[in-house]
Parts: sequence; C-alpha cells; structure tokens
Amino acid sequence: HDLRIPLVSIVGALQAIEGEDEAPLSAVQRRGLLDNALSEAERLNRLLGNLLQISSLDSGSLRLKLEPNDISDVISVLPFDVQIPVDAPFVLCDILLVQQVLINLLDNARKYAPGEEPRLEIETAAEHVIFCFQDFGPGIPASDQDKIFERFYRSDQSSDRTTGMVRLGNVAGTGLGLSICQGLIEAQGGRIWLAESQRGSRFCFSLPIANP
Ligand code: ADP
Repeated sequence: HDLRIPLVSIVGALQAIEGEDEAPLSAVQRRGLLDNALSEAERLNRLLGNLLQISSLDSGSLRLKLEPNDISDVISVLPFDVQIPVDAPFVLCDILLVQQVLINLLDNARKYAPGEEPRLEIETAAEHVIFCFQDFGPGIPASDQDKIFERFYRSDQSSDRTTGMVRLGNVAGTGLGLSICQGLIEAQGGRIWLAESQRGSRFCFSLPIANP
C-alpha cells in the first residue's frame, strides 16, 4: 500500500504529460502534476531508505563508527537552542546515526504536535547521558504506548489529554520511524523509551558516556 500509492501517482502524472498531444494541459495543471510526482518520489525514496536501514539492522550489517563525541556536536542538527549541562561528558556513539534519531523525533513532533516547537533536555547519569525530546502535542494514548516502537505500528488516533479531543490519525507515515530509532540507539548500547509527561509526548534515549 505504502509503495503502491506513490508509484500510482507518479505513473499517472507521467502518463498525463506524455499524452499531452491528445489532451493538452494548462501550465498550472502540468506544474501541479510534476510537484505531486516529485513529492511522491521523495516519499518513496524515504520509505525505501528506511526499509534498507531496517534490513541492515536486522542482518547486523549496519557499520557503526563509535567514537567519543561532544554533545554540542551531536545536537548541532537541531534547529533550536539546547541547554547542555556544564561539565557534560562526551558520549560514545556514531554521530550520524544519533543525528538521524534526533531528526526522526523532530519530524514526528512537527507532524503530530505542530504549533509549539519541541524541546530537547539533557541529563547526565552515572554511566549514560539521557536525551529527552519533549513536544506539546496531543500525546500518545495509554493503550498505544507499548506498541509505538513496533515496526509498521501507527496509532490511528491521539487523544488530547488537556481538552479530551480526539484527533484522527490523518498524518502520512509508515510506522517505521520509531522502530528505526530503537534499532539505531540499541545498536549503540543505549535505550529508547516513552517517558511520563504532564503534557505532550516525551521520548527519551540514553547513550553511554565515553569514559565513565
Ligand atoms: P509514522 O510517523 O510513520 O507513523 P513512527 O514509527 O515514527 O511512524 O510513529 C509511530 C506512531 O507513533 C505514529 O503513527 C503516531 O501515532 C505515534 N507518534 C509518534 N510520535 C508522536 C508524537 N510526537 N506525538 C504523538 N504521536 C506520536
């Protein structure tokens, strides 16, 4: 289904453009078809990228480049300021993979909790650094909380705990993002979980300290 729909719209757009001699298109129609085909092709590309990453996680062929990293470098992909504790240690991780997790969590926050920008909070524990990604959206219903990290699982509704409103899950997605985040973090010796929070969703993950 997820592979099919984008392909159908790409093929449809190309056929309409190819058949222009018989059924001319206006400039606006042609642009609309091209824009749609391009965004569907990009979606397909992201989906295939996710599937390839899942298969490299499953087969153990994911090559990790574990090295001590400064937290400020790790979080430099985020478009907002983050408070880093003074004396924060280096973390042992593959920086690109952790940045991919941060981007996935940011994308989810923007999709499911639009409006207010999310926040990243960082805490140091004995042997780990804990990164908590907090958003201010509808949160995740209790009945779904233990399933959201499963591959292909998507919650079909999120209830807003402050207003009691139920929002139907009409946001596009494949249910792969969080399972990939889990695979990437666990491959680096960390853990990822959904934490308790008064408002919105709070995703936390830990990474080992480089020289505890
Ligand atoms: P996708 O976003 O493609 O559906 P994910 O694995 O990233 O897949 O997320 C699984 C499900 O978890 C989503 O379908 C959504 O229901 C829920 N979810 C993830 N992040 C959030 C969030 N920040 N707020 C509310 N619900 C979320």
